[in-house]
Amino acid sequence: MILPKLREVKEALTSFFTAPYTTKFPFEAHTPEPEFRGLPKYHAEFCVGCGSCEQVCPTRAITLTDDKEKGFRTLTVDYASCIHCGQCHEHCITEKGIQLSQEYNISVMDLSAPEMFESVEKELALCEACGEIIAPRDQLKWIKQRLGAKAYAHPNFMLETQREFFDVVPSKPKARLRREDQIKELCPKCRHKVVVQDEFYGF
Ligand code: SF4
Ligand code: SF4
Repeated sequence: MILPKLREVKEALTSFFTAPYTTKFPFEAHTPEPEFRGLPKYHAEFCVGCGSCEQVCPTRAITLTDDKEKGFRTLTVDYASCIHCGQCHEHCITEKGIQLSQEYNISVMDLSAPEMFESVEKELALCEACGEIIAPRDQLKWIKQRLGAKAYAHPNFMLETQREFFDVVPSKPKARLRREDQIKELCPKCRHKVVVQDEFYGF
């Protein structure tokens, strides 16, 4: 009976003179390990606005909103629903558009407080003929870079390159699209009208 007691006393004394294993948070800020999965943060310089992060988020913490009037796409993370799984980071097409940070300390009384949301905004390319969304401009530039010289085979990418050097004035909407409308920023449906219908149906 005495041996177990002696072991307990030994353990108590060892613990008393050993530094604690737990952190002193909240009295001292805790420094997380490099692999720590903290609050996801957008990095606008790497994000192209593709929306993959919104599609893979298992808790629907990320929302994607397109405003055709203003021509902008907004992606927003709601930290109240985020479970820090890292799927958004893992599936980001640029690998760096959204990254899990080392931040973890977020204390609010109101879940709709601005600190509970993280957003990024991207300008949209809209079809010059029908106004439909083609893609965010940064995503077109990203695809163009990956395609290299092949990108110049597509008018949308050519016009995107032109925009980098000077303003491209959008054309006025027309009742019928013709072959001469090739060099316009068009959605796939309108480009089909220009390339296929005009050629084979002889409008
Ligand atoms: S870490 Fe997971 S839950 Fe949080 S926003 Fe990314 S995908 Fe959604
Ligand atoms: S580039 Fe990455 S962070 Fe930006 S919308 Fe696409 S998946 Fe999300």
